Amino acid sequence: MVELKFYNTFSKKKEIFEPLRKDFVGIYSCGPTVYDYAHIGNLRSFVFADVLKRILSYNGYKVKHVMNITDVDDKIIKKSQKLGISRQELTRKYEQAFLENLKSLNVIMPDVMPRATEHIKEMVELIKKLMEKGYAYKSDDGIYYDVSKFKDYGKLAGLKLDKKKMRSRIRADEYGKEDIQDFALWKFYDAEDGGVFWETELGKGRPGWHIECSAMSMKYLGETFDIHTGGIDLVFPHHTNEIAQSEAATGKKFVRYWLHCEHLVMPEGKMSKSLGNIITLHDILEKGYNPIALRYLYLSAHYRSQLKFSYEKLKAASNTLERLYNIAAELKNDRAKIRSRIVEKWKKQFLEAINDDMDLPRALAVMWKMLRDENLSKGEKFSLLLDFDKVLGLDVESVAKEEIPAEIIKLVQEREEARARKDWETADRLREEIKAKGYWVDDTPEGPRVKKIKN
Ligand code: AMP
Ligand code: ZN
Repeated sequence: MVELKFYNTFSKKKEIFEPLRKDFVGIYSCGPTVYDYAHIGNLRSFVFADVLKRILSYNGYKVKHVMNITDVDDKIIKKSQKLGISRQELTRKYEQAFLENLKSLNVIMPDVMPRATEHIKEMVELIKKLMEKGYAYKSDDGIYYDVSKFKDYGKLAGLKLDKKKMRSRIRADEYGKEDIQDFALWKFYDAEDGGVFWETELGKGRPGWHIECSAMSMKYLGETFDIHTGGIDLVFPHHTNEIAQSEAATGKKFVRYWLHCEHLVMPEGKMSKSLGNIITLHDILEKGYNPIALRYLYLSAHYRSQLKFSYEKLKAASNTLERLYNIAAELKNDRAKIRSRIVEKWKKQFLEAINDDMDLPRALAVMWKMLRDENLSKGEKFSLLLDFDKVLGLDVESVAKEEIPAEIIKLVQEREEARARKDWETADRLREEIKAKGYWVDDTPEGPRVKKIKN
């Protein structure tokens, strides 16, 4: 047994993970705001959630993963107005692009991906409950959450309420720590919203950003659930407000473990739209990189450390991945007997790394060390590699499954025949022909080994 531990932002400690229900884990991840392409900083937080989920599955848990799509907020309304298109047209386009990004990065799709605009009813119910319980009040431009009513407000972010310093209310979805104020749950319609509204019992308007995640996480995972993830910038105000909303409404603990991923940064600071230093997955593809190289780069830094991005680092990750694929292709044909004792020893080392608050850099080091272990047969290495890749998600399996086309096999056979006749000239010519078609043939004591030449 190797204990599974996570650093919980709430307690600011590494804790042993114990799920609410035996063998089952519920995870909610704050998803994208679909008003533009995701950048590789955003994508870091989603690959982090994917690896977390894979670690839980590797430990034998059944996982239900929910990730929301924010398809209405201040930024979305502003951009769709600027482009003169509908909110829906804008958000569907970027939602689609986002899903494609996840697939390229070999992310296992969440089980549920609820859109905010399809859960207005649940949000209205939750806001009504907060009003009934005295945590929310109506003002002239919306319905607000009264932060002074919630005893532990700000605990997640380590903030203390100073009522004297507090100004009245904040309507914007995003704001900083200096603006601890009552925040909008429901925004009454105003002309600037350009036709985006819902007619509800609360009045004509639209939800504030924070309420969607309380409503949708509790709908799909229950009033108390195991793990909530997001980027570090969501600790305040978003997750702070989610706790206040949910716990005030239910009187129960909302989330047991809060996990936050640090930022991907550029030399000039955080990657963000406002700094204008965005890199998308599309940019990386255009430069000829395999998106899995970016995934490898993400794994090479611990999720609680900043990852300083540079193309040099991406290039290095890409070369390393290439090396791994070549090794995998070489190991895959060996189907030797697996000696379980020696294999289990390596599995344990790998498990110790991933279970120690997701220490992926260490897990990668274990993988490379295993591949260099002379006591392991090729078959054992390959089976371990496939096993580790359930967590790493580097798509080693597809390399292993790589089919060699019949045409190439025929050429290889012809070459073998030429070699048997000691017709070296023909053998060399055939090797060149095979190479020109993108394959490499190695002569080994067990016969020829063919692999695709990666470019
Ligand atoms: P958004 O689409 O802006 O709602 O952000 C989606 C996710 O990306 C959130 O969990 C953010 O915390 C996270 N995020 C934003 N910028 C970065 C960054 N530079 N590095 C890592 N995660 C980020
Ligand atoms: Zn959220």
